[in-house]
Amino acid sequence: MKNFQIIRALSSKSAVISIAKEKEAMFIAGGTNLVDLMKKNVVAPDKLVDITALDLKKIEFLTGKTSIGALAKNSQVAEDKAIIEKHPLLAMALTAGASQQIRHMATVGGNMLQRTRCSYFYNTDMPCNKRVPKSGCGAIGGSNRMHAIFGASDSCIAVHPSDMCVALAALDATVQVEGPKGKREIKFTDFHRLPGNTPEKDNTLQNKELITSVEIPNNNFTKNVHYLKVRDRSSYAFALVSVAAALDIQNNTINDVRLAMGGVAHKPWRLTEVEEFLKGKTVSETIFRQAADLAMKGARGYGDNDFKLTLGPNAIVEALTIASSK
Ligand SMILES: Cc1cc2nc3c(=O)[nH]c(=O)nc-3n(C[C@H](O)[C@H](O)[C@H](O)COP(=O)(O)OP(=O)(O)OC[C@H]3O[C@@H](n4cnc5c(N)ncnc54)[C@H](O)[C@@H]3O)c2cc1C
Ligand code: SF4
Repeated sequence: MKNFQIIRALSSKSAVISIAKEKEAMFIAGGTNLVDLMKKNVVAPDKLVDITALDLKKIEFLTGKTSIGALAKNSQVAEDKAIIEKHPLLAMALTAGASQQIRHMATVGGNMLQRTRCSYFYNTDMPCNKRVPKSGCGAIGGSNRMHAIFGASDSCIAVHPSDMCVALAALDATVQVEGPKGKREIKFTDFHRLPGNTPEKDNTLQNKELITSVEIPNNNFTKNVHYLKVRDRSSYAFALVSVAAALDIQNNTINDVRLAMGGVAHKPWRLTEVEEFLKGKTVSETIFRQAADLAMKGARGYGDNDFKLTLGPNAIVEALTIASSK
């Protein structure tokens, strides 16, 4: 690992100033992803700005929305009684991620910015356009069991590995950020990006902006929700496919619905067209199967991950069935 300097920021403003000036500086929060990347020489910052002392850990229930500080720990959010009551989908998705020990260290902001788990990205002996632009993609034509079936490009077929982000995309969250040019808000569904020709860019942050909080508008998705995660082991494994399903059901009719998938694209994959299809329909397995078939429009496999073309729709049907039967 390369030698680096570490400083502790005491305000968001000083954190942003410290990092903006230096090309190779990075923020560090829980360190559960960044330190692994540094040990493997995938990233090699000259300077780390430790943001853990910033006052960004609060969970607040404000008029019309919930605000979650970027430094709130994944376990803190998942176990918060009011979050479980108001946003059970988020609590379920967080609990499905990593292990309790990692959730105690991992922060909300860090979870959003965790890098892909594509094995070629972590192996500096292998080509990877995300790690070294224009070096090639080892996963296309290589080992790609974990990889994308939606929105991939000839440059990169990696997936975003987060569980939490799938729920936040479904819940219409927004991301509050602060940078050298001031503060701004980004829609959660616009935060992560598709790879295109620039897979080295995971998201739409500019100039090393600091994530300060995530906000979730109030909603009626407090009962009929389910986060289904299909993985190789029942703990400590990333999603092969996941589905965040939230339904607002009145007299067996779907009033409103949110649906997003994880493990299938470079970003949490929100299924807005499927949501429109489901609205106003009566709950039934036939409708859920039709919705799942619609969700697969445009999906393609790359060899090892072809099984996701079957697993994906089956997971959607199961998630909707479990959510609607609560
Ligand atoms: C063995 C293992 C299993 C895991 N399994 C899962 C899983 O199943 N599901 C899942 O979702 N996740 C999983 N994770 C990932 C884990 O959730 C992330 O590593 C964690 O959320 C990252 O948060 P952190 O605070 O430690 O981030 P760090 O490692 O400190 O930082 C990650 C990145 O975010 C940047 N950053 C951090 N905070 C901010 C901020 N506020 N503003 C701007 N930039 C910031 C850092 O510069 C860095 O680039 C797993 C991790 C491990 C090690
Ligand atoms: S899929 Fe993306 S992250 Fe994986 S090797 Fe290809 S370019 Fe790199």
